[in-house]
Formats: sequence, structure tokens, C-alpha cells
Amino acid sequence: MKLVVVGGVAGGMSAAARARRLDETAEIVVLERGEHVSFANCGLPYYVGGEITDRDDLLVQTPDSLRAALDLDVRTRHDVVGLDAQAKTLLVDTPAGRRSIDYDALVLSPGAAAVRPNLPGIDSPRVSTLRTVDDAIRMRDNVEAGASRAVVLGAGFIGVEAAEALSLRGLDVTLVELAHHVLPVVEPELAALATDELGRLGIDVRTGVAATAIEHRAEHDVVHLSDGTTVEADLVLLSVGVRPDTAVFEQAGVACERGAIITDERGRTNLDGVYAVGDATISRDAISGERRPVALAGPANRAGRLVAEHILRPESARPIPRPLATSIVRVGELTVATTGATRQALRRDGRAFHTLHLHPNQHAGYFPGASRLHLVVQVGEDGSLLGAQGVGPDGVDKRIDVLATAMRGGLHAADLIDLDLAYAPPYGSAKDPVNLVGMMAENVLNGTTRLWYADELEDLQDTALVLDVRSASEFDRGHVPGALNIPHTELRDRIDEVRDAAAGRPVRAYCASGMRSYIAHRVLAAAGLDSATLSGGILTLRAVLGREAVTPLRVPEPAGT
Ligand SMILES: Cc1cc2nc3c(=O)[nH]c(=O)nc-3n(C[C@H](O)[C@H](O)[C@H](O)COP(=O)(O)OP(=O)(O)OC[C@H]3O[C@@H](n4cnc5c(N)ncnc54)[C@H](O)[C@@H]3O)c2cc1C
Repeated sequence: MKLVVVGGVAGGMSAAARARRLDETAEIVVLERGEHVSFANCGLPYYVGGEITDRDDLLVQTPDSLRAALDLDVRTRHDVVGLDAQAKTLLVDTPAGRRSIDYDALVLSPGAAAVRPNLPGIDSPRVSTLRTVDDAIRMRDNVEAGASRAVVLGAGFIGVEAAEALSLRGLDVTLVELAHHVLPVVEPELAALATDELGRLGIDVRTGVAATAIEHRAEHDVVHLSDGTTVEADLVLLSVGVRPDTAVFEQAGVACERGAIITDERGRTNLDGVYAVGDATISRDAISGERRPVALAGPANRAGRLVAEHILRPESARPIPRPLATSIVRVGELTVATTGATRQALRRDGRAFHTLHLHPNQHAGYFPGASRLHLVVQVGEDGSLLGAQGVGPDGVDKRIDVLATAMRGGLHAADLIDLDLAYAPPYGSAKDPVNLVGMMAENVLNGTTRLWYADELEDLQDTALVLDVRSASEFDRGHVPGALNIPHTELRDRIDEVRDAAAGRPVRAYCASGMRSYIAHRVLAAAGLDSATLSGGILTLRAVLGREAVTPLRVPEPAGT
């Protein structure tokens, strides 16, 4: 068996390494266009920022180490420029000229290339992307040569990481994003917290605007934005997305959708003996079943390993799982993480679901260092877990990973209540935030809790009694205009007051984070009132309404729960 792999980084190298472990006799050739294989592309922003000091740390393996450990024939500076799937040959540009290389099985893992929008001035030498070790070295050299102003175009995960890295190096950074908020795959009420944190780092965040041109001048470039403003820059980083690097293979007859290679659950393409994995492919989404690209290292590595099994040990190979696209990013002192579907995606798919907002502490509140964890969880009407996101200074990774595991395992929301999670005060709570998600979901699904949402506030102010159940002193520091204040502890004795004020209208209760208004809701509902509790309380309301919350609504920073 001669296995040829195109692309020597995440998916490709996983396939090659696994193939060797399964078959000592196979001839395994890895063709890589660049200078390096098995490099840590996920570490590139941290090299630019200086947290990874030595560039050699980015080079996880070399052709020599791979030859020695796994007997792999790794050929760098080998660019595959043609494929004849009938003849089972590749056409390859090598340092010694163009060559033909034959194969029995072929794994394509060519990854994705950075999108370069067709902007005037995009070819300025100060404009770069961050995809390769050489890109990172160039960018760090520019910083060390005295660059002091950077514009980062695109506030996805890599754009945010790069903006933070450049800001850590002391540059004035402007982060530009076309969408209405940074980290577009993150729910807006959580992304708002990331925006605040980027501001705290001194990064100038501009959302809802696009770059329209880059003007190259002798001393610096000038980035023109769609709102008419301009920003001067010594370096401009393009991070506006990626596109599968598949042109050669599509031309050769490999079936693609939106440029990404279509594969089945064994990684097979439409061509005999040709498999594909990683950023170059399009996968079925674990929640919607729709095809969508997922450009993440974990799915690429795992698919590479499984494809090798399908080629060499097909009888026992497991199908490649549909990705949940679980991902995580550090933003200053915060962690932002997500798994599964967003609200927007579920609405697009016409799914019936509930959104839960929770703000528990990451560990026992009485133990020093307690901090809030902001969670948004999407739960289907049938109790299925559809998506979860979290933001906070500590403990986010653990909760999103547990929720991703529960989703992969097909657990329902109520099953989360029964998860037996490790607890001692420095690590969690006897009711872990994940258990709380289950409890809240069960309450919502069986009608014990009824939620209302921050974006309904404007309509409700005319049609409902808005009831603030916090203490009088909290109320005095600021509240939703027109709200009646009755602390939840007094509600049972003052229920007639509520009934009179409501005058037949529904009652919509709120508190700081949703806990006290949930208790109030139970009292109100037991008294026969049409009531609901604000999902996530003022903490979520403030994040949803943004600046609007401060002025017309005079909604304060909440204290307590
Ligand atoms: C800066 C940065 C940070 C990232 N951070 C994270 C992170 O924190 N977490 C995460 O999950 N993911 C992260 N990713 C994404 C992750 O690196 C990719 O999802 C993963 O590397 C994809 O693996 P792949 O094998 O499909 O492609 P790649 O790892 O990109 O490898 C493809 C290789 O194929 C080569 N190639 C392409 N065409 C040819 C050809 N015709 N002939 C020969 N060789 C070819 C390319 O030169 C490239 O080296 C990051 C990516 C970048 C760029």
C-alpha cells in the first residue's frame, strides 16, 4: 500500500502518523507545499504576542524527526498542482522540478487559505495574514522593528487573539468587524462582555463597519472604513475568514460545495481512493445536519486519524463524528467558549427551543476568588441540548467541555442534574453550574419556570406590570422605569398590591441575575397571576441593551443574585 497525504499539518499529519501505527509496511509519503510540517498554527498569535518566546517551539515535528519516529517520507516544498484520479497520480512541483507521484490511497488535507478581499490597496506590503510560521515571524519582526499602530480586520477568534497579542506588545490596536459585535459566532449578550474586556485592554473596537480601502503611504498606511473614518497603521492584519484551498482538486473532479470538499462519514470523496479531512472539507453539523465548514484543529486531527483507519482497518473503523464546533478563546482576563448551535442558527432552522441565561459563581461564593460565569444555553422543546456558550474569568472551559461531552453523548437537559461532578469549594459548588443548567431547563420544560427575555422589554413596558423584586436600596440605585418594587421576601404579604397594580395585565418580574425573580414567579403564579421571570436578570438585560441600558432605562450594575 502506498498512501500519499497532501498537507503536512493537523489533519494530514494525523492521518500519516495513524497509518504508520496501523501498518508497519505501508509506504507513506507526505507532500507539503511550505517549509514546515506539523507546526502549531494555533500558537502563532502567542508567538507574535511574545508569550511563546522561541520560534522553534512552534515546530512540533520536523521531516527528520518524523522519519526517525514513524518512518514517514515527508517532503516539504512539494506543491501538488494536479491530480489524475483515474491514473492515481499527482503532479507535484518540487525543488527539483515537476514530478509525477503515484498512490494507492490519497488523503487530501490542504487546509484553508486566508480570504483576501478585493480592496483597493490590499497589496500594500504592510498588509499581512496570520496562517503560517513565516507570517508570524514577519509580524513579530515588524513589531520589534518599531511598528506602533495596528489595524486588525475581522474580529473572529484569530482576529481577537491577534489584536490582544499586538496590544500586549504595546501597539495601539484598532479591531474592525463588519458584524454588529465581535466574535460573530458568540451570542450578542456574551460578546458584549468580550467587547468590554477588549476596551479594558485598550483596543479600539469598531463594529458594524468594513474597510473600504487601504492607502499606502511612505510612513504608514491609512485604512479607510465604511463609516467615513480612517485609521493610520504600521501594520494591517487581514483576518476576515478562510476559504478551502482546494482549487487544484476541484479542477480534477473532486466534488465540492462552496469550494469545500464533500466527504461521507468515512472521509471518502466522490473519487475512488481519494479521501479528505480538515478545513478543506465541509461537514454535517451535529445539530442541524446541514453541511457547513468547520475550521478547527480538533475535528481535523480526529478526522485524520479516523480516515487512516478507514483506509487500513475498515472493518473496525468508526464513522467520523459530526462536529459540534466546540471552540474557546482567551480575551484578556476572560475566557469565551462555545459548543453547538447558536440562537440565530436554530431560528434559521425553524427549531423550537428555549434560551437559558445563568450567572452562577464558578466555585463556592464564600471561597476567595469566586467570580461569575455567564452561561447561555439553548434547549430544545424535547429537552435536547442544542448549544451552550460561556464567558467569565475562570471555570468556563470546564463547563463548556462538560456540556459538549453531554451533547456528544446525547444526554438531555434534565440528565445534567444527575451529573456527579467533582466538588470542593476551590473548584465548584455542590450544585455545579452544569447541574444548575439542568435544573433550570427542567423547570422551564415542565412549566415550573416561565421566562421572559430582555429584548421583549420595550413592548412589555406598555402591556405588563414590570415588577422589580430586589431590595429597596438596590431599586433606588437604578431600575427599569415604571417598575414597581416589592422585594421578593415581602411578596407573599403584598400580593394584593401586585394584583391591583397589574390591573389584569401580566406581571413580568426581574432581579439582578434571575434567582430571586424565579422565587417571586412561583409566588405570583401560585396566586393565580400571569407571571414570568426575566432570563438572566439585569446582568443579561444590560448586556443585551448595551449603552441604551444606562441612559433611558437607568439600569444599574446589579449587586447580589
Ligand atoms: C493563527 C491560527 C490560530 C488558530 N487557532 C486555533 C485554535 O486555537 N483552536 C482550533 O481548534 N483551531 C485553531 N486554528 C485552526 C486550525 O489550525 C485548523 O483548523 C487546522 O490546522 C486545520 O487542519 P488542516 O490539516 O485541515 O489544515 P492545515 O493545518 O492548515 O494544513 C494544511 C497544509 O496543507 C498545505 N497545502 C495546501 N495545499 C497544498 C498543496 N496543493 N500541496 C501541498 N501542500 C498543500 C498547506 O501549506 C498547509 O501547511 C487556528 C488557525 C490559525 C491560522
